[in-house]
Amino acid sequence: MKASEIRSKWLEFFASKGHKIEPSSSLVPHNDPSLLWINAGMAPLKPYFDGRVVPENPRIVNAQKCIRTNDIENVGKTRRHHTFFEMLGNFSIGEYFKEEAITWAWEFLTDPKWIGFDPERLSVTVYPEDTEAFEFWNKKIGLPEARIYKLDENFWDIGEGPCGPCTEIFYDRGDKYGDLNDPECWPGGENERFLEVWNLVFSQFNHNKDGSYTPLPNKNIDTGAGLERFASILQDVDSNFDTDLFQPIMEATCRIAGVKYKENEEFDVALKVIADHVRTVAFAVGDGVLPTNEGRGYVIRRLLRRAVRYGKVLGMDKPFLYQLVPVVGEIMGVYYNEVVEKREFIEKIIRIEEERFHETLSDGLAILAGMVESTRAAGGRAISGPDAFKLYDTYGFPVDLTEDFANEQGLAVDREGFEAAMEEQRERARSNRSKSGSMKVQGGALSEFTDKSEFVGYTELVVPAKVL
Ligand code: ATP
Ligand code: MG
Ligand code: MG
Ligand code: MG
Repeated sequence: MKASEIRSKWLEFFASKGHKIEPSSSLVPHNDPSLLWINAGMAPLKPYFDGRVVPENPRIVNAQKCIRTNDIENVGKTRRHHTFFEMLGNFSIGEYFKEEAITWAWEFLTDPKWIGFDPERLSVTVYPEDTEAFEFWNKKIGLPEARIYKLDENFWDIGEGPCGPCTEIFYDRGDKYGDLNDPECWPGGENERFLEVWNLVFSQFNHNKDGSYTPLPNKNIDTGAGLERFASILQDVDSNFDTDLFQPIMEATCRIAGVKYKENEEFDVALKVIADHVRTVAFAVGDGVLPTNEGRGYVIRRLLRRAVRYGKVLGMDKPFLYQLVPVVGEIMGVYYNEVVEKREFIEKIIRIEEERFHETLSDGLAILAGMVESTRAAGGRAISGPDAFKLYDTYGFPVDLTEDFANEQGLAVDREGFEAAMEEQRERARSNRSKSGSMKVQGGALSEFTDKSEFVGYTELVVPAKVL
């Protein structure tokens, strides 16, 4: 089943249950300073959840584009994480609650008319005190107790505001993906045999200013399922990257770079990271975010540079990412025509940024040559940690590249010192974050990744008037 078909089925299924189809919102949050990016299907619907706006229909369904930079380190390593992905959601604003949410989730997942997963492969997690959810799974759906795991983490709470328990649904991908004797092989464990596909959140309490919890007069349902994960199961492939959402991008990259997928592990990671990042950047630029040195623009700049660096692993020494934009458009255009409509603009922005970064890299090489010289003159045998970090932080110079170059010159790199400098910067980001307290969103690494650093010799991207 093609990914676009899964998306349509999702919308159609919930429409048949009386839900209104809401189009995906922009990746850039509207009137919400607490969020850098839309990172869940519920995020653009917050005004309905907190009662500021009354929806036309209390039942809503959507397919929402999301960005989560806190998952960046996972990209290319796990089978299931992206920086840009689509979250499929169904929502009830003060109307239906646990029973319907669970019953419909089960129907959509297991009925062959919809996506027809083998029910034997499904298991769920619940919040230990949420006996209602447990009972619905166990008594109404008939899921055996052994496949209902009680987890303390299953409580959705992001500080003041609505919160509540959740129940998550996992698909067992079978022996090929993990040994049941592995202590991490269970729904919610590190092992990816049990793939989390869907999270159903029951927002039934208000987290008050004084830290207490009181029941909400109107209880809400907020769910999110990963389209790419559904696709990996339904297309019976090893990872999200092997689905029709990513393969054409990876094939195009292989053609441009003259490499093959699944021949070399290092190349495969690079191909996945590039495919992931180019989607993120294309969609973000399509929503009006340009590469800059702060905020969202900086995230985009970092992602692009990261993709360029992974391109180097494939031997790419000149701009190429922009050529992948039409491929992204072909895959995603059926639902998100902005990437098709704004194709030329997106290509230009990416190309300019790639060119600039290549220049930056050559500037970095000049600085590195100077560091090599002064290290030698001082009788040192390694590029210092702070120097290597400066190259990384200011010139986007990966430490491996610094090391390769230093080795050629008969020097080492103080990796420990580099790591320490990196850790120091993370610490700074962390303490900035806890001071501001504004980034309490679904896992923390976001502000670490977006923390500003000073750029020397790398001027802000100025978009020529003719591009705009
Ligand atoms: P995981 O534990 O796999 O990181 P999560 O618990 O952080 O996922 P939720 O916040 O519950 O994810 O989001 C709801 C659903 O969105 C997940 O069940 C998954 O299907 C999908 N999803 C979440 N993060 C990502 C991501 N980075 N890439 C792709 N899909 C994702
Ligand atoms: Mg996660
Ligand atoms: Mg999870
Ligand atoms: Mg989850």
